[in-house]
Amino acid sequence: MIGWPVKHSRSPLIHGYWIKQYRLDAEYRREEIAPEAFPDFIAHLQERGYAGANITIPHKEMALTLSEPDDRARAVGAANTLWYENGRLHSTNTDVEGFTANLDAAVPDWTKRLDEAVVLGAGGSARAVIYGLIERGVAKIGVVNRTPERAEALRARFGQSVHPVHWSALPHLLARANLLVNTTSLGMTGQPPLAIDLGPLPRHAIVADLVYAPLETPLLAQARARGHAVADGLDMLLYQAVRGFQLWFGVRPEVTQELRQVVETDLVK
Ligand code: NAP
Repeated sequence: MIGWPVKHSRSPLIHGYWIKQYRLDAEYRREEIAPEAFPDFIAHLQERGYAGANITIPHKEMALTLSEPDDRARAVGAANTLWYENGRLHSTNTDVEGFTANLDAAVPDWTKRLDEAVVLGAGGSARAVIYGLIERGVAKIGVVNRTPERAEALRARFGQSVHPVHWSALPHLLARANLLVNTTSLGMTGQPPLAIDLGPLPRHAIVADLVYAPLETPLLAQARARGHAVADGLDMLLYQAVRGFQLWFGVRPEVTQELRQVVETDLVK
C-alpha cells in the first residue's frame, strides 16, 4: 500500500490474512512515499520486488497517468490498484467492484428491483459508486451533494442517468428510490452526523453506507430499525480487496465472517 500518510490503512491486515490463509511466500507492506518521489517509486516498483500495489491518498490520480488504466479506473479518474501483465503496469479502481460485490452478497437480487438510486455525495467514492450502478444498468441516479457544482460535474462525466438534485428535494427523491447510498464522510467518527430522515423511503429500498468507522453508522441503525436491507462500509472494504489479491497472486480470495472479525477487532481497538 503506497500512500502519504499510510499508517491508518487496513489493507495490510486484509491481504496479510489471505497470504497466510493461502500459505503464499509473499509479504504486503506499507510504503510511505511523498508525492514528489511517487513517479520514481512506481517506475522501479518491480525492481523493488513488488508484483503490484494498492494506492491511496494523495497518489490515486497520479497512479492513473503512470499506468495503463482499465475502463473503471479511467471512468472514475483514479487508480487504487496496480499490477503487471506481460511486463506492463496496469491499473484499476477496485472500489467499483467493492461496492457492487458487497450489494451482490448482501441482497443477491438487488439489480432486479432497481430503477432509481439516490447517491449522497459527489467525491471520489461517489464516482466509483455511480460507475458501478451504471455498469449494472441502473437507469436513474439522483446525486445530492453539499457543493452542487460537484454533482453537476458527475452528470458531465457519466451522462444522462445522473440527476443532480438539491438537498432540500431529498424527501421527494427518497420516496421513489429503491437504493440509497451514503458516500459522504458524514456519520464518520469525528465528522458531523448525517442528518437524514428515512421516513419517505419505501420499505423495500436498500440502504448502503460507505463509512465503516463506526461499524454501524446512525444511518444503517435507522435503516435496520425500519426493516430495510443494508450493506455496510466494512464489507465493501473487504470486497474491494478481492480483485487486487487475485491480480497479484492468481487466487481469488474469499470474504469470510472470520476475516471480517479480524478487521472489526482492529477497528474497535
Ligand atoms: P471525498 O472525495 O473527500 O468526498 C467527500 C464527500 O463528503 C463530498 O461529497 C463532500 O461534499 C461530502 N462532505 C464532507 N463533509 C461534509 C459536510 N460537513 N457536509 C456535507 N457534505 C460533506 O471522500 P471519499 O473518498 O469520497 O470518501 C467518502 C467516505 O467514504 C469516507 O468516509 C471514506 O472513508 C468512505 N469510503 C469507504 C470505502 C469503503 O470501501 N467502505 C471506500 C471509499 C471511501 P462536498 O463536495 O460539498 O465537499
